[in-house]
Amino acid sequence: MAGRAYTGRYFYMKVFLNGELVDQNDAKVSVFDHGLLYGDGVFEGIRAYNGRVFKLKEHIDRLFYSAKAILLDIPMTADEISRAVVETCQANGIRDGYVRLVVTRGPGTLGLNPFKCKNPVVIIIADKIQLYPEQMYRDGMDLITVPTTRNHQNAINPAIKSLNYLNNILAKIEAVNAGYEEAIMLNPAGYVAECTGDNLFIIKGQSMMTPPLEAGALYGITRQTAIDIAVELGLTVTEPNLTRYDLYNADECFLTGTAAEVMPVVKIDGRTIGNGQPGPYTRRIVDRYSDLTSTTGEPL
Ligand code: PMP
Repeated sequence: MAGRAYTGRYFYMKVFLNGELVDQNDAKVSVFDHGLLYGDGVFEGIRAYNGRVFKLKEHIDRLFYSAKAILLDIPMTADEISRAVVETCQANGIRDGYVRLVVTRGPGTLGLNPFKCKNPVVIIIADKIQLYPEQMYRDGMDLITVPTTRNHQNAINPAIKSLNYLNNILAKIEAVNAGYEEAIMLNPAGYVAECTGDNLFIIKGQSMMTPPLEAGALYGITRQTAIDIAVELGLTVTEPNLTRYDLYNADECFLTGTAAEVMPVVKIDGRTIGNGQPGPYTRRIVDRYSDLTSTTGEPL
């Protein structure tokens, strides 16, 4: 594989760490890093398709917004990070893959105080990802609502893509324990927020709906792309507060995320959505998303 050193058994990956591309075995962070000790940091998950990084600018912008919200000074400019993402993909021969971009608070003391961490750490890993089995994209997914609610916006605002994912992990545990791949999380007021790592959409007639950001949804980049596609398809898009009743009685449902892409949902809490098959608009959104990802983005 181009760009990767073949050592006989394994391909060794190059990882971007603080301005340098290092061997994966040398890509190490301190045990005093507050990213590890406290989940203090921010991250992005980005995909490359067909030799292009999809929506790179949007991801870098969101990284900086998340960092601003937690008062974290990223020690690189947006342009430098964009170039580093491209270079890390190139160094690993990635033309179709997944990039994990992480900025931690950096090493500090054993106390919480983030101001004692003077050197934030920037990490970029370019690899592959397959979140769900192929068959699920054809047949659709079953979801379950779980008891753990999404963080209140005055706790950890769900708009911040922080390294502190325990809220989502608790919900994921509840889903997996119940035999499901993904969970619907409500917010503390009881409205639908999102899934553990994806945004949620329903379609009823000619109308597409997704929870508003203030309901506890991440400002998903795939979410915005799905909204743009739906508008192109002539659907009316709104962001109302949704209850589980609204989900159960939808004609179609799907979830979106960079890693998950566009995943049809055919059952929620045992209620069949529509006729139990991925819906016609959902299929068109999947197709259009696939066109966009393979033809647009920052060239590698
Ligand atoms: N919600 C959460 C909680 C997420 O972690 C993600 C990203 N995995 C999303 C939604 C989807 O966001 P995006 O489309 O920008 O990947």
